[in-house]
Amino acid sequence: MNATSHIELSKKNLQKNYAFIRKLLGKKSVRISSVVKGNAYGHGIEIFVPLAEACGIDHFCVFSDDEAYRVYHAAKKHPDILIMGDIAANAIDWVIQHHIGFFCFSIERLQDALNAAKKSGIPARVHLEVETGLNRTGLNESELKKALMIIEENPEHLKMEGLCSHLAGAESIANYLRIKKQRSKFKRMDEIVRKAGFDNYCRHLACSAALVRYADTRLDMVRVGIMQYGFWPSPEIFIEYCGGRALRTSPLKRVISWKTRVMNVKQVQTGEYIGYGTSYIAHQDMCIAVLPVGYSHGFFRSLSNKGRVLIKGERVPVVGIVNMNGTTVDISGINGIKPGDEVVIIGIQGELEITVASFGEYSNQLNYELLTRLPEHIPRHVVE
Ligand SMILES: *Cc1c(COP(=O)(O)O)cnc(C)c1O
Repeated sequence: MNATSHIELSKKNLQKNYAFIRKLLGKKSVRISSVVKGNAYGHGIEIFVPLAEACGIDHFCVFSDDEAYRVYHAAKKHPDILIMGDIAANAIDWVIQHHIGFFCFSIERLQDALNAAKKSGIPARVHLEVETGLNRTGLNESELKKALMIIEENPEHLKMEGLCSHLAGAESIANYLRIKKQRSKFKRMDEIVRKAGFDNYCRHLACSAALVRYADTRLDMVRVGIMQYGFWPSPEIFIEYCGGRALRTSPLKRVISWKTRVMNVKQVQTGEYIGYGTSYIAHQDMCIAVLPVGYSHGFFRSLSNKGRVLIKGERVPVVGIVNMNGTTVDISGINGIKPGDEVVIIGIQGELEITVASFGEYSNQLNYELLTRLPEHIPRHVVE
């Protein structure tokens, strides 16, 4: 059976994005970790992970154990997997047995890991997450020292693999001072670790925005989410980067496209209402197309009377209320549209493009949120 819409991922564009990120990182050997939480920002873990591997990625960050499980099974080349957030109590054994690393932001988690590692005889791959100012998760100085002692006492069970923290909004210059403070705090924490006699651990701090704006946060590894998918973390970072270099086009390329097709074409006479209720009245004789996507497919209800899609290379507006399974668009004046014709919701058709940002603006959402709300059930495939 066919789904009513599908998502395409462009391999060529993903390669370009990694090439751009590698160029930014320069010659120094900074490892790229591909952040694939939130179903790979809506791109789909199962399809995105092997695609990223084919582009040379060998490290993935996820939020939780269920995502780690999906990456583990989707991957083809035994990449490193690192859990940055939640691990359910009954999952820690699986995590350790499968050599999956994880952020340790509390002594309890370290103890749980130690117990599980003793049980399985496989060392836990610990990344100590330190508090630098985000105030969400992270060990403070005394907890860090305690954690280091526990690791030192259990070298066969606990492997000190990484030291990390997360920045509190590097995509906005308003947070400049806070980020700088975090960077210094991280340095101090790093010294504590080295003074305790540890070396050869991986230090990582930067997300996409930080790796562009704050070169001194790149350290040994960067955790890249939004940029690999072809989006700037904020308009500010885009303007700062491209404006400063007088670039006309963004070096980042959108990987995702979302397409559906026309389900029905219909004439509507002047004065008739279109769809449920009275939100849209035909002010002239109109021709409309019905698309088989609605809010249950991730086409937001807030796009009612606002959204735009591309048909036959033209940009056409949504008219009336977005339904659970259907949306109506105005195709008056465009000849020859018939059921089955391709409709682009996000992506390029002919000369025109609907970007995720513009799709988002019609509905007032952030790229990040919008992408992750693309339903998992929409089939996804790779295009070259
Ligand atoms: C989401 C996340 C990232 C990646 O952020 P982007 O802005 O998408 O690059 C990095 N680190 C942590 C801890 C995260 O939660």
